[in-house]
Amino acid sequence: MRAQNADLIIHNAKIATMEKASDFVEAIAVKNGLVLATGTTKSILNNYKGTTTRVIDATGKTIIPGLNDSHIHFIREGLNYNAELRWDGVKTLKRAMEMLREQAERTPPGVWIKVVGGWNEFQFEEKRQPTIEEINEAVPDKPVFITYLYGKAFLNKKGIEVLGYTKDTHYEGSLLEQDKSGKLTGIMYAKETPKAIYTTLGLTTKLSAKERANSSLQFNRELNRFGLTSVIDAAGGSQNYPADYITALELAKQGKLSLRISYYLFAQQKGKELQDYEQWVAENHINKNDNLFMANGYSMEGAGENLVASAADFENFLEPRIELSHEMEADLEPIIRLLVKNRWPFRLHATYGESIDRMLDVFEKVNAEIPFNGLRWFFDHAETITPQQLQRVKKLQGGIAVQFRMYYQGELYNRMYGAPITQLPPIKKMLEMGIPVGMGTDATRISTYNPWMALHWLITGKTIGGMQFWPKDQVLDKYTALKLYTSGSAWCSGEEKVKGKLTKGMYADMAILSDDYFTIAPDAVRGIESLLTVVNGKVVYAKGSFEKYSPPVPEVIPAWSPVKYYGGYQK
Ligand SMILES: [Zn+2]
Repeated sequence: MRAQNADLIIHNAKIATMEKASDFVEAIAVKNGLVLATGTTKSILNNYKGTTTRVIDATGKTIIPGLNDSHIHFIREGLNYNAELRWDGVKTLKRAMEMLREQAERTPPGVWIKVVGGWNEFQFEEKRQPTIEEINEAVPDKPVFITYLYGKAFLNKKGIEVLGYTKDTHYEGSLLEQDKSGKLTGIMYAKETPKAIYTTLGLTTKLSAKERANSSLQFNRELNRFGLTSVIDAAGGSQNYPADYITALELAKQGKLSLRISYYLFAQQKGKELQDYEQWVAENHINKNDNLFMANGYSMEGAGENLVASAADFENFLEPRIELSHEMEADLEPIIRLLVKNRWPFRLHATYGESIDRMLDVFEKVNAEIPFNGLRWFFDHAETITPQQLQRVKKLQGGIAVQFRMYYQGELYNRMYGAPITQLPPIKKMLEMGIPVGMGTDATRISTYNPWMALHWLITGKTIGGMQFWPKDQVLDKYTALKLYTSGSAWCSGEEKVKGKLTKGMYADMAILSDDYFTIAPDAVRGIESLLTVVNGKVVYAKGSFEKYSPPVPEVIPAWSPVKYYGGYQK
């Protein structure tokens, strides 16, 4: 007798269940968005194939559980993606500048051409950044704004003119460079804060409501292209709640998003943070799902990644570390108390061990009063966290969400502090101690969102420029690296029991890969893409020989959008 008819069967595959290392099966059956069974091709077809079952032959390819970026700025990038020229994956400065020129030609007057992160000079063969002169020459007649990592931006002459910036333009904590005659050169530096860069970015072209919805869908699809099926939005600067969440919320309600999204709330106004959290805690329910078509499709997760402005340590490795003000503890404590009291999970941005030490003092003080008692909380980034601090994190049952920011900043870190003698962040140490670790990119303003670049970092310890940043003996094996990107990240939204493995009862979120991650050379991992991505048991992305399974793709708007011409990540 047949056990149960599946909605979908994928067979003739090498399926990593991720239950343990080297645990592979041939076939998988899916029903109602969940994994129904796994096994041999023969047994799965015999037992679960009915007349309405969609059957896909994976032609021997490798399948993994869908990837999960536990720290990405998806909601914000969704509002902007179609308006950005992305240099992610571009191999030469020559090509990057050609793209800039081409994009300027098709950009209507009055519209900004902008490159917002996702690149550095070490990815280019030329191993250098463009000069402001080259940018002015490439685009003399339209405004251009290019941001570089955390600390620098390029504003062309036309851009200076449009904004009306002069030598008297000042932004606190930032520098607008002047030449000898006192004229602005167009180069901006974040010194203590990136205020000049992000305020300027805020003055550039914004998409219309309709374009923002389209942009969010295009960015969603771009993430599906790399096998991502879940993201956790860490909120971010200038991402206001609820105004900037409405586009994603509406798409979620209509079942149009093909990523499971968990999101956080980040107070934006210095001095008003506690008030904001008091209001949010009173008005919102944690984990309420607003995606009407998919479990855990769009849910509010908690507070963070910034809780108070005074606790934000600026991760700019072009400049020395900045000491947090002595008001930090007094600002942070009432917010932590509020969150713990109301059982609101939280995440907190912290780059340096020096900051983490002081934050842990606050957590321990609150814990003595109102026990954390298993409340989910974690630090984000934690590049220079110490073993002693990790011990304290463990005691409070916290976790760490790590990102591959050093892939982009390793060379700069070395210049400032010398080569690290240990892994940074110390992921192996965290795992040894049994601390939950999620993996992510922190995309899109600094790093790319391409998860395969981040996996490359985990398994090689190299930078994007190929420099060996960690000692080689500190790299992770492929299974462990992938586990961080699946189950590890699922912990960060409390979903480790339903996501991250392809075993009976888990979410049917998976990707057929272009190459066998488990056997190809570590450096080749950078080139992997998904050929077919399944979310909630449905094919949401397909290409190449699987293209016939692809759902229809909405056309990119506006007509001048760089995404229409280049897509996202360049191969
Ligand atoms: Zn952060």
